[in-house]
Amino acid sequence: MRVLHDKDIQNVALAGKRIAVIGYGSQGHAHALNLRDSGCDVVVGLRCDSASRQSAEDAGLTVFDTGAAVEQADVVMTLIPDEIQPEVFAREIRPHLRSGAYLGFAHGFSIHFGKITPPEDANVFLVAPKGPGHLVRRQYESGSGVPCLIAVQQDPAGDTHGVALAYAGGIGGGRAGVLETSFREETETDLFGEQAVLCGGLTELIRAGYETLVEAGYAPEMAYFECLHEVKLITDLIYEGGITGMRASISNTAEYGDLTRGSKVIGTEARQAMRKLLADIQSGSFADEWMAECAAGKPRMKSLATSGADHEVEQVGSRLRRLMPWLQDKAESKAPDRAIAAAS
Ligand code: NAD
Ligand code: MG
Repeated sequence: MRVLHDKDIQNVALAGKRIAVIGYGSQGHAHALNLRDSGCDVVVGLRCDSASRQSAEDAGLTVFDTGAAVEQADVVMTLIPDEIQPEVFAREIRPHLRSGAYLGFAHGFSIHFGKITPPEDANVFLVAPKGPGHLVRRQYESGSGVPCLIAVQQDPAGDTHGVALAYAGGIGGGRAGVLETSFREETETDLFGEQAVLCGGLTELIRAGYETLVEAGYAPEMAYFECLHEVKLITDLIYEGGITGMRASISNTAEYGDLTRGSKVIGTEARQAMRKLLADIQSGSFADEWMAECAAGKPRMKSLATSGADHEVEQVGSRLRRLMPWLQDKAESKAPDRAIAAAS
């Protein structure tokens, strides 16, 4: 993959172009503020009753209703939740989109799975920071940046790659590195990673380990520390130095157990299940299931999130985290509410 930096980016690609950032959540606030601080002409588009309007205005940004922001923009960046993008696009973006505008996304889901079909004269690009919005903002403010993926899906103007690259540079990505991919690759690998490894795989691995120890008669507190709490210590080491770096830091006993036992847990069956998840992502069947779940008011998601929040490991954890004062701001009693909020 080609990796580009600030020196490869022509900022002029955004000169004279007004950018409308639609949405002011995790990504929206970071993009809008970083672009503004990079000297770009930015407005924010929000629903008229949006709770975020005040904080965007307090940060010195100019806010319009979504349609009015789109109408005046050369570049429209769609930073609202993926599941509501099709509806908001049809109602508030498409009717106001200028002919020949650049239409951006931070995740390829809506475009790749055909949930949004942009007009033929729109230039469609992706700028996906590899980190949550607060990190994109914090790194930018400290003079650094978060690596970004860029891709182009439609390019009637012939210069969409340059616009995407300048946009990635404007949010700080060029200070770290900008990697070129496609909508398909970004979308399918992103979904696979969160389902098989980062979210689905990891949470089930933690719970299975916890349940195995508790079932065998060990104290729930011990099971919590060994199977959940210490995940952070290990993932921090992996994040900083890869698997080899982590192995250099753990004891020889831990390393031998790691090397000889891990593949017994994640064996043929788990790998086969991963291939099946990937096939369901590639065929679009996961995307269709998720859209149908949203249309029905997310009943399955809410019930699974509630039973997840009721699991014993959550109760034990909320007690134990009170013993660790450095974790207290993360207000553990909020965990179940947050699971439900995320599902609503
Ligand atoms: P978010 O949930 O944090 O923010 C969504 C914002 O959209 C809200 O704050 C609100 O301003 C607006 N909004 C909500 N409902 C709306 C409606 N009905 N009409 C108009 N506006 C509405 O979303 P996010 O996590 O920033 O995700 C935005 C995009 O960025 C998604 O495509 C997501 O896949 C992508 N992305 C997110 C992350 C991440 O870490 N959060 C990372 C990379 C890419
Ligand atoms: Mg991801």
